[in-house]
Amino acid sequence: MKILVINSGSSSIKYKLYESTGDNHDFKVLAQGGAERIGISGASVDCKKTGCEKEHQYLDLPDHKKAINAIFQMLTEPEKGVLKSLSELSGVGHRVVHGGEDFTGSVLITGDVVAAIRKNSVLAPLHNPPNLMGIQAIHELYPDMPQVAVFDTAIHQTMPPKAYLYGLPKEQYTVHKIRRYGFHGTSHGYVAKQAAKELNRPFEKLKIITCHLGNGGSITAFDGGKSVDTSMGLTPLAGILMGTRSGDLDPYIPLHIMETQGLSSEQVSAMMNKQGGLLGLCGQRDMRDVLEGYEKGYEGCIEALDIFVYAIQKYIGAYAAAMNGVNVIVFTAGIGENVPQVREKVLANFGYLGLKVDKRANKANKTVITSAISKVKALVIHTDEEKVIASDTFDILKAKKK
Ligand code: ADP
Repeated sequence: MKILVINSGSSSIKYKLYESTGDNHDFKVLAQGGAERIGISGASVDCKKTGCEKEHQYLDLPDHKKAINAIFQMLTEPEKGVLKSLSELSGVGHRVVHGGEDFTGSVLITGDVVAAIRKNSVLAPLHNPPNLMGIQAIHELYPDMPQVAVFDTAIHQTMPPKAYLYGLPKEQYTVHKIRRYGFHGTSHGYVAKQAAKELNRPFEKLKIITCHLGNGGSITAFDGGKSVDTSMGLTPLAGILMGTRSGDLDPYIPLHIMETQGLSSEQVSAMMNKQGGLLGLCGQRDMRDVLEGYEKGYEGCIEALDIFVYAIQKYIGAYAAAMNGVNVIVFTAGIGENVPQVREKVLANFGYLGLKVDKRANKANKTVITSAISKVKALVIHTDEEKVIASDTFDILKAKKK
């Protein structure tokens, strides 16, 4: 079965073409690429067939439909393409950011699903509309192509009310749906299950804290195989310090800034989402640059790294308390997978739980980075959100065929 995974953003579309090599979730990547600068001058599309050079074309891409069409043409190009025709494709899996309370798992896309994603756009105005543009473009071009939506929020729908309700008048939730939703669900769920597999323990019997540390970052607590709390909230701004996002703030701060500095909500939103985080604190958004500054003894970088690590430690501590224990801590995504200094600093404060870091394993980015006698295990697991989308799409298409 061949499955195309699509992540459709406002001006770009990324894709990966998978082929399942068996009856389970063994996939090989046949090709990957994307369309850039959709609706902007200098648009382009590319395709990298596995094991080959990347093909790149500049062409006019005024909208998502043209971009999807260009991607499909490249995939089916007679000489260099990877598909003979689109009929080889069993279906398309889409990353959709916000499923609100409507979706607790991945679903085959129907008119009702599109309407529900549209309804939830109010909760993710920057993400759901461009996700929908990708879905609609394919539907218009190939109305019979089965499409599946995989939601960033779905896995967190198992959180209990004590974790998802905010201390606001109740109608803010009942009428306006203001609550904690959480994000990065495909990544958290995947690495938590992989960690249980690595340890040869049933996922449902473990208390796991997963730390997804990329440009965006969030921490999730899994108890009994379910997400019971997560650090992002109504929006992906909440939680730990991120590349350019502030993470948790005193909730009055944005209002205070607007009142005292005369800034608009758009300006304060940009400050918190795009000018905050590591960037706001030390002028560097990329962890590699922060680390370089840290090594050179730059005060701003030392402070920013301290704040980054401290926020993660506080969430791990809070979730260990919330779950009345923790068996496994997992690190994933760009920083979680590649930066031993951050992991070592974070884990330094959990000796009281019986956690002992194996410094050599940690430095070498091994999978298990705690010693054999450590009561709490810490693991590094490579996240693969596209593969989760391919797996869910595979399962749904297989069930549909029956
Ligand atoms: P996202 O998918 O949210 O854009 P990623 O998971 O790609 O983010 O993570 C990006 C972050 O990971 C950046 O801060 C980057 O500096 C950091 N990162 C990735 N690889 C390395 C590395 N080898 N060493 C240090 N930092 C890294």
